[in-house]
Amino acid sequence: MPEQHWPEVYKKLGVKPVINAQSWVTSLGGSLMRPEVLRAMDEAATAFVDMKELNRAAGEVVARACSADMGLVTAGCAAAEVLMAAACMTGIDESNVERLPNTDGLKNEVLLFKGQRNRYDGAFEIPGARIVEFGHGDSARPYHLESAITDNTCAVAYVMGPFIKRGLGLEKTIEIAHAHDVPVIVDAAAEIPPRENLSRFIKMGADMVAFSGGKGIGGPQSAGLLAGRQGLMEAAYLNSLNLDSPKAGIGRPMKVSKENLVGMVAALELYMDSDETAIIEGWRAKANYVARQLDGIDGLRVVIEDTPVDRQGPQPVIYFESDWNGPTPAEVRQKLADGDPSILVGGGGVGNEINIVMVNVQDGEEKVIVERLLEALH
Ligand SMILES: *Cc1c(COP(=O)(O)O)cnc(C)c1O
Repeated sequence: MPEQHWPEVYKKLGVKPVINAQSWVTSLGGSLMRPEVLRAMDEAATAFVDMKELNRAAGEVVARACSADMGLVTAGCAAAEVLMAAACMTGIDESNVERLPNTDGLKNEVLLFKGQRNRYDGAFEIPGARIVEFGHGDSARPYHLESAITDNTCAVAYVMGPFIKRGLGLEKTIEIAHAHDVPVIVDAAAEIPPRENLSRFIKMGADMVAFSGGKGIGGPQSAGLLAGRQGLMEAAYLNSLNLDSPKAGIGRPMKVSKENLVGMVAALELYMDSDETAIIEGWRAKANYVARQLDGIDGLRVVIEDTPVDRQGPQPVIYFESDWNGPTPAEVRQKLADGDPSILVGGGGVGNEINIVMVNVQDGEEKVIVERLLEALH
């Protein structure tokens, strides 16, 4: 087995690198930044600038990429969720901005379809908002949303991600919310690629949309993008820093450094110019390699899946059939994680399966994954 690359900075801390076949997950470090991004960050670190000016300039790049009125680089998608909820509660009234997280007298309910509850949605509540669920766990009907909207509703949130339920769908959600003059805020953290998603949800009529910067775009892991309508975005700026006010906004603990701002812009521009088809075909080649090597094992069915939203890029999914009599998917996952190097694979989404996500698998690692999988399956 080839010697695993162990960067000195991690070696000094005694922390060993892992093989990430689990996707752009925060628990394994998001994604790797390209050399051009790192060079931009190095350069940014050599001078002082007016941070308000830099935020505005970086925001213009985000706005263009998302075809939105305005944009903002945030400290990740979860930070953007905080700012979206804050903006919908305060508007551009500075006395409201100063008051958060006290929401007395403000509309403070964020409606969210029950099937879209997720581990990040607490971010909507950080500025003092309260999530109010509608619909059932699996589905929602238009009247569920209509009857949940009250005088206290500040926004309807919509979340997209692997195995998160669609509910009414974004289009219908927007139609109903807008008929009641309520803005729609979208968490689309990991929906890039495809590139067209940067502008797709805005074009559908969403009022604000948030993406992670350190997932498919390849920016700093603690950066993200927020884009949307003028009035709400001005409100997000106020809540973000409020650099001119004696009191910092609710977003102050989520500030973005000049290095991360510049790195995020560099990553976004590189991503906009990248050959997305070639990148995806690279993932597919690795997926095909793994699937071929695992072909013909009794009781296992290996399929390349590439469904948008649920599967991030073409990937082999190993289904453990009823006639399989080896270790369970959980046992196989554990063996892979416990080995050297540690290999983390996808948690799956639909039951008795292991999925091997290729978006962060480095060249050659697919061979290590196959060797170790064949051992672990015995
Ligand atoms: C990753 C993710 C987040 C958090 O994004 P960060 O950029 O890490 O803050 C939020 N929501 C969903 C659905 C995600 O997948």
